[in-house]
Amino acid sequence: MELVRCVSCNGYGWLEDDFSGVSDDCDWCGGTGYVYRDAAGVDHKIPPADYGQVAATLERLEEERLRELGYTGQAKKPWEQDVRQGTQGGVNPYAAADAPASAGDADGLHPDGG
Ligand SMILES: [Zn+2]
Repeated sequence: MELVRCVSCNGYGWLEDDFSGVSDDCDWCGGTGYVYRDAAGVDHKIPPADYGQVAATLERLEEERLRELGYTGQAKKPWEQDVRQGTQGGVNPYAAADAPASAGDADGLHPDGG
């Protein structure tokens, strides 16, 4: 028996009703997000009695799923987030040590007019 991601909820374990917007446990997998797939390719809910022995495997599968979604287990720094590129938040404050100092020269107004 193989553990696979639930095809109905894609591993989320819940579904949102398109009409009411209410989210509820996925009927296909019983809310675990994963199912047993037998040799014939038929999916079965994981019986609650089995949760203990499949917990480690489910955790590994869930980690893989999150990685697919781009979750690395670490928060990105604001300036590493694509969404902030080009904004003030997209500037790494620790990399700006050599920012150009503002020129001390005035703007062309010389007091000693000829
Ligand atoms: Zn499901």
